[in-house]
Amino acid sequence: MKINKFPKNLLSPISSFLTAQLDKLKLRKKKISLEDPFKDKSRVMGNSSLDTEAEEQYGHARVSAIKDELNKKASQIEKALKRIKSGKYGFCEDCGKMIDTDRLSIFPEATMCVSCEKKREK
Ligand SMILES: [Zn+2]
Repeated sequence: MKINKFPKNLLSPISSFLTAQLDKLKLRKKKISLEDPFKDKSRVMGNSSLDTEAEEQYGHARVSAIKDELNKKASQIEKALKRIKSGKYGFCEDCGKMIDTDRLSIFPEATMCVSCEKKREK
């Protein structure tokens, strides 16, 4: 028997899980933004020592890197949620084959099968 639709009864828990994940990511992004030294408007420009400036540069770079990572994750989750809505969830966006359910249980935001993802990474 060829399965061409992801079981509906599995979609709604996945959808609520992903929505919750997305909310968590947004919250983390907000929190991490507060750690960005460049956000501190009260700091006196040009009045800090070189050491402090280097530290702030580093802090800003670190926050930016984490934010990038969070953004990447968030957009992947959004993509998966869109595929749930359009009924394409669980199928590879490249080859259209059903994504391994073991893979989906550890990585529910996956929108590609393992082999296509490996191909894309290259
Ligand atoms: Zn594929």
